Amino acid sequence: MAEATNFIEQIVEDDLAAGKISAVQTRFPPEPNGYLHIGHAKAMFVDFGTAEKYGGKCNLFFDDTNPSKEKTEFVDAIRADIRWMGYTWAKEVYASDFFDTIYEYAEKLILMGKAFVCDLSAEEIKNTRGTLTEPGVESPYRNRTAEENLRLFREMKAGKYADGEKCLRAKIDMASPNVNLRDPVIYRILHAEHHRTGDKWCIYPMYDYAHPICDYLQGVTHSLCTLEFEDHRPLYDWVGITLGFDPKPRQIEFARLNLTNLVMSKRYLKKLVEEGAVHGWDDPRMPTLAGLRARGIPAEAIKDFCERAGVAKAQSECEISYFEAVVREYLNAHAPRAMAVVDPIKLTLTNYEGSEDVDFEINQMQEGAGTRKITFGKTLYIERGDFSLDPPPKYYRLKLGGYARLKNAYIVRADEAVTDENGNVTEVKCTYFPESRSGNDTSGIKAKGVLHWVNAETCVDATLKQYEHLLRDADYAGQDFSERMNYDSEHIFSAKAEPYLSEHAESFQLMRTGYYRAFTEGGKLVLSEIVSLKDNFNK
Ligand code: ATP
Ligand code: MG
Repeated sequence: MAEATNFIEQIVEDDLAAGKISAVQTRFPPEPNGYLHIGHAKAMFVDFGTAEKYGGKCNLFFDDTNPSKEKTEFVDAIRADIRWMGYTWAKEVYASDFFDTIYEYAEKLILMGKAFVCDLSAEEIKNTRGTLTEPGVESPYRNRTAEENLRLFREMKAGKYADGEKCLRAKIDMASPNVNLRDPVIYRILHAEHHRTGDKWCIYPMYDYAHPICDYLQGVTHSLCTLEFEDHRPLYDWVGITLGFDPKPRQIEFARLNLTNLVMSKRYLKKLVEEGAVHGWDDPRMPTLAGLRARGIPAEAIKDFCERAGVAKAQSECEISYFEAVVREYLNAHAPRAMAVVDPIKLTLTNYEGSEDVDFEINQMQEGAGTRKITFGKTLYIERGDFSLDPPPKYYRLKLGGYARLKNAYIVRADEAVTDENGNVTEVKCTYFPESRSGNDTSGIKAKGVLHWVNAETCVDATLKQYEHLLRDADYAGQDFSERMNYDSEHIFSAKAEPYLSEHAESFQLMRTGYYRAFTEGGKLVLSEIVSLKDNFNK
């Protein structure tokens, strides 16, 4: 058997060993009211990952008990995101598939004297719930007979009452120290069109009541969810025990994934989209899986991150720089190298004529990745920042009279700088040394700096985009998201890129610049930052 690496796997292993279950069945339960985000990737890692590890199955379970907020658009997007993450669900199930059975169970509870129709308003129910230190007050409708409850409940279903006029409540204990057990509402009236059942229903089950039933009907063995449901577990168990579920699914809670500098709540993400603070759900700055995909972050790196961040019971916040370090590590190993110049100045080799191909290593981290050809020529572009007229001490890039190597090509010496009327350098004239060619350097010239370049004759114009985090660092603990919002988090530059980039839509390490995704938009090459080159994560 596989080796448990976290407390959930340990429980599963123990249950298998004790013969309590014969196979693992889990479910991933998104509510189709928005796009999945990186927090959901963690939940998928737990739900799909645990089942996979023990040879079990995981269902895709759409929690669609809340008709007004749910949309088919989100269902489709969620499916696509799960597939992109590389997970396969056994069955696709909707809470609404079970509405009939969930309803029958409610009638059963009524007949058992375990549920009653209550005429109190939502407000009144809230006000009579009590507090953490004081018990609640029993509803005056609590002792209706089973017959009367059944009649009223059927009338609710038949549409006789308006929204909020009545509800069905479990009859548990108004003095329970757990507020969730104080006669919780289990059905409400809602005359709303449901995205799958249309107008068949005007009463809808509450999540806490429907979820254990749906789990049971799917044969879920371990119902894995986040910590905020811990206080709801007694109700989850009450439903299962009262209705005699055997075997009863077991709910286990784990800590949510929280990342610094990212908002994770769907509600807030939706606001950003609606306010136009980002370009959409799939904006590369968004923590949605669609956004991470657009950013160029590989699903494999996300999975790796979830695994390394670990599955724990204790709440914590993970540094965004740790996530970035994992992504960088993945791309360093997998992304081919290429060159682009962001703020170009012209470099002319006064003693060079014609052009030639030089070998460029595709990825020195990958054995056998090999080389490709890049065309070298008389006129090139280098970064403005790689030449200085007034160099500080120990400046290893190019300065007048100084030497530097052009990556995978020749050593050059800067002889003259051409400036415009404002004193800005427009061109650097250089001498190149034929014997210094990379791989066969017999020149004996020492050049510490290695500069990336593109050929001015063959390069293409590109739009280069860089991003900052959507949220600035917090000034104090618990500072509100809206106060930390970084509205100026997208920066656009024009760049010169080697033509190879416009022919290959993939992720690259742009030498000395960062990891970028290359793609064409409106006929123009776009280089969109995935993650910077520099690791600022403090291990
Ligand atoms: P949000 O608060 O972002 O709207 P949610 O909990 O309402 O998230 P659901 O669609 O209900 O989103 O979640 C589906 C599953 O993903 C649930 O099991 C939920 O616990 C889990 N999940 C949601 N956010 C996170 C997170 N940040 N870390 C781990 N699991 C998460
Ligand atoms: Mg939810």
